[in-house]
Amino acid sequence: MEISDRYHSLNAAIYPWFEEQWQRVLRLHNDNHLPHALLLSGMPGIGKARLAESIAGYVMCHQPQTNSACGQCRSCVLLNSSGHPDLYFLRPEEKGKPIKVDQVRQLTEFMHNTAQQGGYRVVVLEPAESMNISAANALLKTLEEPGRDTLLILITHQLGQVLPTVKSRCQRLDCHPPDETVAVEWLVEALSVEYQEALQLLKVVHGAPLAGVDFKQQGHQALRADFLTALRDILRQRKSPPEVAGQFLKADLDLLLGWLQGLLADITRILLMGSDELVRNKDMQKMLKGVAKNSTKDKIFTLADLIQFERLGLQRRQNPNKQLLLERILIDWSALVRT
Ligand SMILES: [Zn+2]
Repeated sequence: MEISDRYHSLNAAIYPWFEEQWQRVLRLHNDNHLPHALLLSGMPGIGKARLAESIAGYVMCHQPQTNSACGQCRSCVLLNSSGHPDLYFLRPEEKGKPIKVDQVRQLTEFMHNTAQQGGYRVVVLEPAESMNISAANALLKTLEEPGRDTLLILITHQLGQVLPTVKSRCQRLDCHPPDETVAVEWLVEALSVEYQEALQLLKVVHGAPLAGVDFKQQGHQALRADFLTALRDILRQRKSPPEVAGQFLKADLDLLLGWLQGLLADITRILLMGSDELVRNKDMQKMLKGVAKNSTKDKIFTLADLIQFERLGLQRRQNPNKQLLLERILIDWSALVRT
């Protein structure tokens, strides 16, 4: 049986755009009117899964506060650490694949066991539209009679594709994307970016703030991978510093320099500790060891100082010559391992 495998920290705040939905669920629960099954519906990337988890945390908490779970009781502690045996996540085994009837049968088995911690049992099923007809049929009985103190939270990104028999057995909680201003302000905070960048990002992801965070983070990942590969190519003399500087002309220079500083800090760690145990850029360990072996502390520190100096300069200057600036740093990078 699959026991909960993921849970965000209960301390995480409710997204401001879901405050209304959150209050509605709290009211239902406090009035003992919570239905057996909720269907959270809305576009992807707006945080429905986290809302579902917050609801689960609240109803499972043994001493809920006015507006949140207590964070201290056994249930909260379990949720915040290893996972709670009474919280069950049901998702496709592979992203984009359907939820299979066998998975629903395993859920039924879970439902037959009593709650291990003597409180609510919660099932989070996502996405509801990915159940094929036999899986949905297998779920119907559970949806009708889930047993006492049980809550099923179904999440759907495409309400129109959820089978009517499933829909009619759930109470719907419609989740709308936030207003543009709210979303942009949230992104500014969440990503530490300027208002204009957040606005631009939000447009790219059609107004779904969490999709914006993903997009930004994934973009960074790809950029980082390209930049580190280029740095390695320079050391192997496959590419020249001006060539690489040209390749990254459009990238956020401060970001690149920050990554390079991180590498130099790692090389310093190797030099000072005599081992690569504390290296943070694990994926570049081989290259970092190579540089540490063939360079000197003096060269590393000089380059690290230069980068620090240029980063401060970047914040002050209006129109820096990015090509020249990066080129100069990359020339010093290439000289780290040359005699
Ligand atoms: Zn609690």
